[in-house]
Order: sequence, then structure tokens, then C-alpha cells
Amino acid sequence: MNCFVCNQEAHFKYALKGYKLLQCTNCFHQWIQEKDAINLEDFYDENYFRGQKASFAAYFGNWEPAKTLHVNKITYDIVNLFGKNGLSDKNILEIGPGPEDNLFRYLSAFSSVECFDKASIVNAFLENKGAKTYGKWEDIPSEKYDIAVAYEVIEHDPNTVKFCSNVFSKLKKGGVLLLTTGNSRSYYARIKGYKWYYYDPPAHLNYFSAKSIKTLLKKTGFRKIDITRIGRTSKNILSRSKLALGFLPIFTLISSIITVYGHKAK
Ligand SMILES: [Zn+2]
Repeated sequence: MNCFVCNQEAHFKYALKGYKLLQCTNCFHQWIQEKDAINLEDFYDENYFRGQKASFAAYFGNWEPAKTLHVNKITYDIVNLFGKNGLSDKNILEIGPGPEDNLFRYLSAFSSVECFDKASIVNAFLENKGAKTYGKWEDIPSEKYDIAVAYEVIEHDPNTVKFCSNVFSKLKKGGVLLLTTGNSRSYYARIKGYKWYYYDPPAHLNYFSAKSIKTLLKKTGFRKIDITRIGRTSKNILSRSKLALGFLPIFTLISSIITVYGHKAK
């Protein structure tokens, strides 16, 4: 079995809930062997959002559009990129909008926020709130967006090569993809082994290393790829206290999430 990211050899690593996890010997990408049998449109149905993931219940509860731009984990990263005053002319595509903090809520801060989700129940919900949503990649305009954000999304997609190529084609020249995902080479993941909390098939199908996400983004056209091992939000919170800042290296060690920026050349 060869790695679909770098074409080098991959081997069986763990059995996870009846699924086989494979790992590349070169880029350390890990994936669920059965991933291509997962149909996202079918899997992310009402049952998934209401039942299996109890935290998503909030999604269907009291939901109000935010009136001002307050800094949550997504907006903090974007403000960091463009500055608070640099957002009003930006078109944003949010991929796989989350249940609580999707950017559509901060619509007034941007020129436009549009959402793409494979789950029709999510799109119906957001359309009902007045959002522009897409359910198919081919319906999204090409070269329209300054930023595409995908927080904890790419690991759910069986075809990550197609995912990145699609995002690339939707970005303007000079646009940025901003994503977060689990880091299977983090100390925490390696200490926990098969018990790492992020192993969650059939929801999570891909587990990246810094090397594998970099290789994948390069392969699909992105340049200037920047990876941080701790969320900028966490860094910001920690930096408010000098004492807590001393713990930053420890937080960096135990964080098994990476934030990744990939640029489309101008
Ligand atoms: Zn590989």
C-alpha cells in the first residue's frame, strides 16, 4: 500500500473501532483504509448533528447572529492575518461551518461570508438564517475568496487531495487557506498511542503530520505554507499573564492540534 500524499510505502498501524489505520513511512500521514467507502452527504445527517454529537445540540438551539466582531478562535486568526480594519473588503468562504462559532455570525465585519457544507441539514439551517451556502464544490464561484477557513474539517474528508485542489481553485490570487487539524506526530498523540482522543473513525479519516499537510498543500498548488503547533488564541490567552507564559512550552508540547496557512501565489 502506497501513501496517497507522497507515494512512499505505508503500513498498518492500529485497529481502531474495527477500522484499519495506515501510516506512511516517509511523511507519517495516517489514514483509515476504508475511508473511500464513507459518503459525507449520507454520514452527516440529522442523526449525526442531533444525536451522536451531543455538543452540536446547541446548533439547533438559541442561535443569534453576532452584532459585533468579537474575537473567537477563528476570527482571532483572521484578524491576525489582515488586521481588524482590513476585513471589510474581504470575501470569506467557510468550509464545514461549526455549530457555534461559524463566521457567518460575524458577517457585518466582512464584505461577504459564504458557507460550504456537504451536510444538507447544516445548509438548510444556515440558509434559514440568511446565509449564502453551497452543497457542492462545483457550485462555488472560482477565484472569488480572499480567505477560506476550515477549522477541524479536512480530517473528515476521504479525498483530501480533491479537497485542497478545490479550495485552491476558489481562492483569489494571493488568497489564503487557514485550517486546523490534529497532529499525529505531536508528543501528546504519540504518548497516547491508539488511545489518542483524535482517533475517531468514521468521522475522522485522515491524521496529518506537519510534513504530510505541507506535502499535500504543495502538491495542490499552495506556496508559503506556515504551520503553528499551538493555536494563536491559546497563545494570546497565555500572553495575558507572564506567569502563564512560562507554561507556553508545555502547552505547545501537549497541544495535538496544528494551525496551517497555505497561500496562493499572487
Ligand atoms: Zn506519505
